[in-house]
Amino acid sequence: MTDITSLKGIGEKTAGALSRLGISCVEELVTFYPRDYEEFPAPTEIYKLIPGTVGTVECVLGSPVSINRYNGMVIANVYISDMGGRLQISWYNMPYIRSSLKQGEHYVFRGRVYEKNGRRIMSQPKIYRAEDYKKGYQGRLMPVYRLCKGVNNRLIMKTAAEALRTPEALKLTEEFLPRNMIAENHLMAEPEAVRAMHFPKSREELFNARNRLSFDEFLLFMLLKRQRRELYQGQSSSYRCRPDIRILKLAAELPFELTKDQSSAFKDISRDLSSGKVMNRLLEGDVGSGKTIVAFLAMIYAGLCGYQSVIMAPTEVLARQHYESLTALLEGRGLGLKAVFLCGSMTRAEKEEAYSLIREQRAQLIIGTHALFQENVEYKSLGLVVTDEQHRFGVSQRETMKRKGGLPHMLLMSATPIPRTLSMILYGDMDVSVIKERPEGRLPIKNTVVGPEYRRNAYKFIYDEIKKGHRAYIVCPAIEREDEEEALEASGLGGDGAELCTVEEQAEKLRKLFPKEVRIGTLHGRMKAQEKEAAMAAFKEGLTDILISTTVIEVGVDVPEATVMMIENAERFGLSQLHQLRGRVGRGDAQSYCIMINTSRTEEAAERLGIIRASNDGFFIASEDLRLRGPGDLFGVRQSGELGFMVADIYRDETFLHLAEKAAEELMLKDAALSEPEHEGIARRLSAYMERSFYDV
Ligand code: ADP
Ligand code: MG
Repeated sequence: MTDITSLKGIGEKTAGALSRLGISCVEELVTFYPRDYEEFPAPTEIYKLIPGTVGTVECVLGSPVSINRYNGMVIANVYISDMGGRLQISWYNMPYIRSSLKQGEHYVFRGRVYEKNGRRIMSQPKIYRAEDYKKGYQGRLMPVYRLCKGVNNRLIMKTAAEALRTPEALKLTEEFLPRNMIAENHLMAEPEAVRAMHFPKSREELFNARNRLSFDEFLLFMLLKRQRRELYQGQSSSYRCRPDIRILKLAAELPFELTKDQSSAFKDISRDLSSGKVMNRLLEGDVGSGKTIVAFLAMIYAGLCGYQSVIMAPTEVLARQHYESLTALLEGRGLGLKAVFLCGSMTRAEKEEAYSLIREQRAQLIIGTHALFQENVEYKSLGLVVTDEQHRFGVSQRETMKRKGGLPHMLLMSATPIPRTLSMILYGDMDVSVIKERPEGRLPIKNTVVGPEYRRNAYKFIYDEIKKGHRAYIVCPAIEREDEEEALEASGLGGDGAELCTVEEQAEKLRKLFPKEVRIGTLHGRMKAQEKEAAMAAFKEGLTDILISTTVIEVGVDVPEATVMMIENAERFGLSQLHQLRGRVGRGDAQSYCIMINTSRTEEAAERLGIIRASNDGFFIASEDLRLRGPGDLFGVRQSGELGFMVADIYRDETFLHLAEKAAEELMLKDAALSEPEHEGIARRLSAYMERSFYDV
C-alpha cells in the first residue's frame, strides 16, 4: 500500500479529507470508481429543451448581458433565440458575467432548464467557448465521484489521473485472466478497463470496461462461493444443540404468535443446529416480515445449549436496537443468559469490559457491528454467527474461526429480493428459508407521491397522526447545504437542484412550524455515536415525535409506533432504497403512510416513483427498477452493495453473472488448485479478495 501523500499535490490536509471517503492509499484511489458520469451532448435547439433537466444550447451572442437587482440578489440575464424559441439565461450573484461574455462571440451554455409562466429559463449554466466545447467536451463522459467536505470532483479527477500513472496502479491493474477466458467472453483488457472506468472515451468504452470489471467480480465471487461450499460441505459441527424444551416454551410465550413462515424458518434452523453438521443458511424475507425474532430464537437456543452466538449488524444504530430488544426479550425469563453489546465507538474501558464478558463466556448473546471480529475479541465457544442485512462475512474469517475452535453455524439474513434463478447462482451453496407472509393484522402501507406544494398538507397530516400518539420520520437526502453544493459541483446532476432538503434546514423550519408540544429530533451520520444513540432512543421511547434523518435509518430500524414516512426529494433515491426506507413504517397494527415528495418535473421521475406508489412488493419493485433503467443505465448498483460488489449489478449484469459462473466451473474442472502458471494471476487475486476486510461498513 502506498500512502496517498506520495502523489503530487496531495498534502496532509487533503489526505485527511480523502480518508473520509475511505481513500488512504494509491491503490484505493485507483479503484474508487465514479458513482455516475456526466455526458456532454451536442447542443440542441431551444424548443427541444426539457424543463427539469440539464440542457445544452449554442448561440452567437446577439445582445448584451443585463444586470437586475432583486431581493438583494444580483441577477445577470441574457436572452438568446433560435428558429424554434427564446430562452432566458440567468446567473445569480455573478455580476462579472457581464464583462466576461462578449457580443458576437460563439458560446455553448449548459445548465438546468426551468419553466416559469410559460417562459423557459436556464439557470446558472456553465459557459464554454463553442470551439472549446466541441473539441474538448462534446461526446465525452466526465466522471462524477462520491464527494465529501473538502473534496470536490475536480480534485478526485486530477488525483485519479495521477494515480493511474504510478507503478502501483500498473501492478494493481495487471491482466490476471488467462488469454482464452478473455477471448471467449470478449473481455476488455484489465488495465484498459480500470482506466476507462475513470476516463471513458465513449459510452461504448465505458460499457466494455464495466462489463469486464463485473465479470472479474462475479468470477471471484463464484470461486469464493466454491471455497465456502468446500468449507461447509458435510462438516461436522462442534456445536451440536440438544433438544431443549425451554426454547419451545419461549417461542410459545412471545408477545405475539409467530407466523407460519417464521415458525417453519425456525424449525429449519433448529434442525440444522441439532443435526451435528455445520449450518450454512440464508434467511430471506422482505422488510418488515419479522426476521429478527427468528434469529434471536436461534441465538437463545444456542445459548441454552452452552454456546455463544453473535449477531452482526451493518450500523451501530441497528446493532444497538437489536441489543435492546434482545435484552427485553430475555428479561424476567430466568434463562440464565446474558447479552452484551460491542461496537467501535465504545470507550476503551467499555470495550475491555465487553471483551472479558465474552472471553470468560459470562455473556452468551453478543450483539454488535464489525467490531465483533476485531483482533481483541476472543470467543470462548462461538457456536453461531448471524449477520443481519449484509453478506460481507469473508471466507478467510470463517477459516480462522474453524482453526480456532470449530466452524460456527452461519445464518445470513437478507431483505434483498433476488429471483430464484439468481439466488441459485449466488447462494447455491447455502440452504434457504423464506419468510413470505407478514405478521397478521398488518395493513398495507398507503403510498402517495406529491409535489412540493403538498408539503403543508403533509405536515398537517403528520400533526394529526402525532395527536393519535403516533410518530413520523422525515428523510432528507443531505445533512447540510454545503454537502450537496459540493456534490453538485461539476456535475449539475441529481434531482432538480432547485430545492434540496437538508436535515438541518428542515429541522429549523419544522420547529417553527409545528406547535410547541411537537418534539422534533434529528439523526445523521455526522453526529457522534452517543448523539445518534440518544436521538434514536428518544424517538423509540416517544420523547420525540418526529425524527428528521438521512438514510442512516434505511436498514433495520424498528419503531412500530411510527406510522408516517415522509421522503423529501424522493426522486433522488433509488427504488430499492425507497422501498427499504418505507419499510420503517407499517410495523405495528395501525395504518401507515408513505409520503414521497417529488421535486422533479421529469417524466422519468414520475414514472419511477409511480412504481413505488403502486406496489409494496420488494420483488416487483426490483424487477421494474431494472426494466426502467434498461441495459443502457450508467448508474447501477442500487442494491446498497449488500453482496459486496463495487461495479457489478446482479440484475443489470445478469449475462455476465452467467458467463462468470460458466468460466469458474470450467476453471475448476481444469485446475481446481489454481496451480498452473496461467492461473497464478487468478490465485493471487482470489487470495487478495479473501483477505480484504469484509467488515468495513
Ligand atoms: P425485518 O424482517 O424487516 O427485519 P423485524 O424483524 O424488524 O422485520 O420485524 C418487524 C416488526 O414486526 C417488529 O416490530 C417485530 O417485533 C414485529 N413482529 C415480528 N414477528 C411478528 C409476529 N409474528 N406478529 C406480530 N409482530 C411481529
Ligand atoms: Mg431487519
